[in-house]
Amino acid sequence: MSEVTRRGLLGSAAVAAGGLVAGSVIPPAASAQGEPQKVGPDSFKFRLEAEKPHPYPGGNSRGASARNFPISKNIAGVSMRLDPGAMREMHWHANAAEWGFYMTGRARITIVSPAGQWETVECGPRDLAYIPRGYGHYIQNISREECHFILVFDSGYFDEFSTFSVTAWLASTPKSVLAQNLRVPESALADLPKKEVYITPGPVPSEAELLAAQTAGISNVPSTHRFSLSNVLPVVHPGGDLRLSTIKNWPVSTTISGGTMTLKPHALRELHWHPNADEWDYFIKGNARITVFSPYGEVHAVEYGPGDVAYIPMGYGHYIENTSDEELEVLLAFNSGSYEEISLTDWISMSPPQVVATNFNLPVSTIEEMRRRTSFIDRPR
Ligand code: MN
Ligand code: MN
Repeated sequence: MSEVTRRGLLGSAAVAAGGLVAGSVIPPAASAQGEPQKVGPDSFKFRLEAEKPHPYPGGNSRGASARNFPISKNIAGVSMRLDPGAMREMHWHANAAEWGFYMTGRARITIVSPAGQWETVECGPRDLAYIPRGYGHYIQNISREECHFILVFDSGYFDEFSTFSVTAWLASTPKSVLAQNLRVPESALADLPKKEVYITPGPVPSEAELLAAQTAGISNVPSTHRFSLSNVLPVVHPGGDLRLSTIKNWPVSTTISGGTMTLKPHALRELHWHPNADEWDYFIKGNARITVFSPYGEVHAVEYGPGDVAYIPMGYGHYIENTSDEELEVLLAFNSGSYEEISLTDWISMSPPQVVATNFNLPVSTIEEMRRRTSFIDRPR
């Protein structure tokens, strides 16, 4: 057994035994990823839409991954725009599932699974599409306007090196093999792209073509890969509302949950943390401040505007303020199909008042006042 493995095992055993082994304390935050990293306010923000886009005929993309946004080790994001008729080509991702939030235009996606199942879905504004890791798919803009969408991947190291495009594969495979495999003469393959296409322009399909494609087969997936946030009854709070998709209302999305949240001007999304997931936020409109309570007892207040991305590592305490006189709207994504959180007010409400009073150095009567307040999103003061 190697030294590293042995130390790893001792570490886990020590944590299970309450953190003490051979007289030494194992830091509770020590994990498989090592010590918590030192962070500053800049660590939690990435100006995604301010990035220089990768241009392609038919569209462009901007990406945030652990490479350019180092704290985002477990979630990567892409902002992609497709011209009418253009298509993000047939591809799959080796190391991540894809959770897409569609904002403008209309996308058509066909998802192919290893169980011989397929599904074609259409996503308009506020719809989500989930593509399990490794499943084949494309995204075509079938509308007459730009199709803009945000893709969230459940690996921070997701990137094009772990994405396999069908044209790159065909371009690097001998024509003789393709001819045999696809049962066409080699001469029929002369016009195949010579390299990866990534995004390709194309005509907007006619209504008849769309209908024909829709009825070309019968999908037999047990659970749909599309989810409409517009059809979710929002959970309304005094300071805003939340539309959330989790494995409970969308069983296919096993590794990512999320949705949209609005905050009224100067409202507060209360102090809380997520025990089971990292949080990745994309700001759609309005201005916000997120204050993160990070390891080493440091607190960082970070300002965000439209097109910015926030990343809050699992377990870090945080709250969100709408700092403007406009409504704030934010896309939230978590790298777990189950949504979990613990809020400060829940914690206070569920603890004996005398304990909290002693801990906070406040009278029990004040603690009683704090208890059982429903302040998920609090009204403006
Ligand atoms: Mn994809
Ligand atoms: Mn949160």
